[in-house]
Amino acid sequence: MRKWMYNSKATVLQECQRKYWFMHKKKLLPRHEPEYFSFGRVFHSMMEKYIKEGLVPATLFLHQQKEDYKDTLALMFNIIQPELERYTILSAEKVIGIDFEGWKWCIKNDLLVSDTLGIWCADYKTTAGYGASVAAYYHHSPQTLTYQYCQRKHNPDLVGTIFFILTKTKEPKLFVERVILTEQQLRIAELAMKDTIALAEHVESLGIYPRQHTRCYNHRGIKCEYLPICYYIEPDQDETSYTPYVLEVLNDLFIYEDPDDHLKLGGES
Ligand code: SF4
Repeated sequence: MRKWMYNSKATVLQECQRKYWFMHKKKLLPRHEPEYFSFGRVFHSMMEKYIKEGLVPATLFLHQQKEDYKDTLALMFNIIQPELERYTILSAEKVIGIDFEGWKWCIKNDLLVSDTLGIWCADYKTTAGYGASVAAYYHHSPQTLTYQYCQRKHNPDLVGTIFFILTKTKEPKLFVERVILTEQQLRIAELAMKDTIALAEHVESLGIYPRQHTRCYNHRGIKCEYLPICYYIEPDQDETSYTPYVLEVLNDLFIYEDPDDHLKLGGES
């Protein structure tokens, strides 16, 4: 059976291996996503429909359930749409995978575009604010590095990544950040990916998924989605021994779904 790896899975593995077990071994996913995720997802979905089907927000909003988002999304669209006209769009939301250390490492760029300099990965970001520290993160984040590494394997002419960064302010602003791919970035990406695969094989071969207690709440005070059940379930526990409390919480807050399914839907197999 093929083993899949991608950035969000790698992040979970490195942050908390018990969470990795919940998500990727037990295939138990939170039923509701946090608000800060859902805005970005609605924005990405709007842009995908615009790029692939030519639908503009006026049409999209007829089906838009998030009433609160309407004004912000419309303003953001009006800013980014003329900027995108400057590029040739080669693909949108396309999953690609490379064979890596016996696993399939997959990425999904929001866009692949070209201009006079060559081919670029392109990603949208919606963020509360934008400054030097956020820019530095985008330049060096594992997501940027692995996306560029995988995309370079498919496109030897890849120049780097363009970030279209939109602030979620009353009057949204657009920042365009270009990250040029360097040999050093390729090396860092390759080593980071190797370390991730080695860690995944290590924990899976042992079958031990320790809790990472320092991750149960993040620096903004937001708790891990698995906290309500984390201290009541063990990986080797038979489900028939779950308490009524655990069964009720599982039913209310979680669904059983394979998080890898989105890769297969995107065309990789
Ligand atoms: S509640 Fe804490 S220990 Fe449990 S999965 Fe979440 S981060 Fe890990």
